[in-house]
Amino acid sequence: MGIRSGAEYIKGLQSRQPEIWLQGRRVTSVYDEAVFKQPILEIAKLYDMQHDPEYQDKITHICEETGERVNNAFLPVKSAEDLEARRNLYEAYAKATFGLMGRTPDFLNIVLTSLYSNASFLEKYNRQWAENVKSYYRYIRDNDLFLTHAIINPQNDRSKTSHEQQDMFTHLGAVRETPEGLIVRGAKMLATLAPITDEVIIYSFPGFKPGDERYALAFAIPIDTPGLRILCREPMQDGKRSVYDHPLASRFEESDAVLVFHDVLVPWDRVFLYNNVEAANGLYPKTGIAQQPAHQTGVRGLIKLQFATEVAVRLADSIGVDVYLNVQNDLGELIQSVECIRALLRTAERECDVLPSGEMMPGWVPLETIRGLLPKMYPRAIEVLQIIGAGGLLMSPTDADMVHPELAEDMEKYYAGRAGISGSERVRLFKLAWDLCGEAFGQRLLQYERYYTGDPIRKRAIFYNNYKRERSFSLVDDALSVFEGKKTAESVLPVKRASGAD
Ligand SMILES: Cc1cc2nc3c(=O)[nH]c(=O)nc-3n(C[C@H](O)[C@H](O)[C@H](O)COP(=O)(O)OP(=O)(O)OC[C@H]3O[C@@H](n4cnc5c(N)ncnc54)[C@H](O)[C@@H]3O)c2cc1C
Repeated sequence: MGIRSGAEYIKGLQSRQPEIWLQGRRVTSVYDEAVFKQPILEIAKLYDMQHDPEYQDKITHICEETGERVNNAFLPVKSAEDLEARRNLYEAYAKATFGLMGRTPDFLNIVLTSLYSNASFLEKYNRQWAENVKSYYRYIRDNDLFLTHAIINPQNDRSKTSHEQQDMFTHLGAVRETPEGLIVRGAKMLATLAPITDEVIIYSFPGFKPGDERYALAFAIPIDTPGLRILCREPMQDGKRSVYDHPLASRFEESDAVLVFHDVLVPWDRVFLYNNVEAANGLYPKTGIAQQPAHQTGVRGLIKLQFATEVAVRLADSIGVDVYLNVQNDLGELIQSVECIRALLRTAERECDVLPSGEMMPGWVPLETIRGLLPKMYPRAIEVLQIIGAGGLLMSPTDADMVHPELAEDMEKYYAGRAGISGSERVRLFKLAWDLCGEAFGQRLLQYERYYTGDPIRKRAIFYNNYKRERSFSLVDDALSVFEGKKTAESVLPVKRASGAD
């Protein structure tokens, strides 16, 4: 089949009835649920872009294996051209959503492509697991499906491993084997966009200890598999707010959910890893499923930071405060953050790593540096928006006020900005800014940037340890060589000093 259209994606959603719980009730039709409607339409637009002549050649390619047109997320990266094709895709999707939707379909499809490219890692442990990954990749690619994922255990007692939790099946684990497959029970978090996806893939960060065998799992199943319960967090908007009042929150909210597996059957051909702590600990670092998506998240993060920065610049200009040194200093800092991430991305694309499989990956040092910096830079951009907008962020009326005949004159006069900025222009801009820096929607976006790919503190510690292992820090040796026999301290001291003329 190859690339789907938005309508085909929606038709797929309408054909299923996953067990979704939202605000104490069971959702019967995800497409007709107000809180999901707009995000579904935003994802549908991305599918439609695949058919748009303006984007088609940039974000899709002809699959060598099938001769069909497929998304670039399914392109195994073997060359600089492939990497560029990938970047074009990430950029197009991120620009279409202002970088505000983190889990667009490309994200997990890249994970899957990387698993496919490095299936030899699984082959070492079990040939069937590798075969399962390969055929699952082909199935998702050829049907252009949309995945969610849940890789974290629920936040119960973090000081204990999975098998030490109060109940053996608080964390998702294997209960028993049957001729048809594996029965799994327990919970995983935090499956963003789960209600509006087609499938879910489960895997984990490393950290398994002996005794955790039953939790060492990786598999994928359809989102409507019997026994799989999707527990949505409270929505941050009701799906009925006006686009004028909430230009971003009304469109781009990604729901998050805990997934609970009530004795769910995972067919054997969907099991990618099971009952093997060593394999489960190696899966994330050794199959490129951390590094390849970090390219996508880097590009998306850049667009998001750039967007917040542009809103801050326009906000400052609209009320004439960017004539002040302190405001220029803050805005200059944000622009430098954007340029820093842009430069790191370019470096990552030039300094590639090549895996034993031949898969080419953007360099991990610049990518991890982005991963370390964005959780500081993005919150700072939000803080600058709050500081520049100040009380003005809290004086915006609603659409209904703006168009009321009795109020129109006041609105234009008292809500106008500097000369040339009308009341309605200023209010629109401030509403955009408030969605980003004040609304619960904006706070989630900030929390997302901190945590979407793991705890930034531990990630940086891992980065440090890996960096230290790979580098010799030889500049220090060069400096210390002054004390070695051949290069004595005296021989390098300036003549004047050696002669005591000082
Ligand atoms: C908006 C949002 C969307 C997300 N979407 C997804 C998704 O689609 N799929 C998915 O799988 N995950 C998703 N995540 C989850 C994300 O992967 C986790 O939030 C992240 O890995 C951190 O784990 P945690 O939230 O359980 O925090 P915890 O690990 O519980 O950490 C809580 C605090 O305790 C500290 N801490 C905990 N354990 C240790 C330790 N061992 N050593 C030192 N300090 C420790 C941390 O530094 C942190 O400050 C999402 C998260 C957010 C916020």
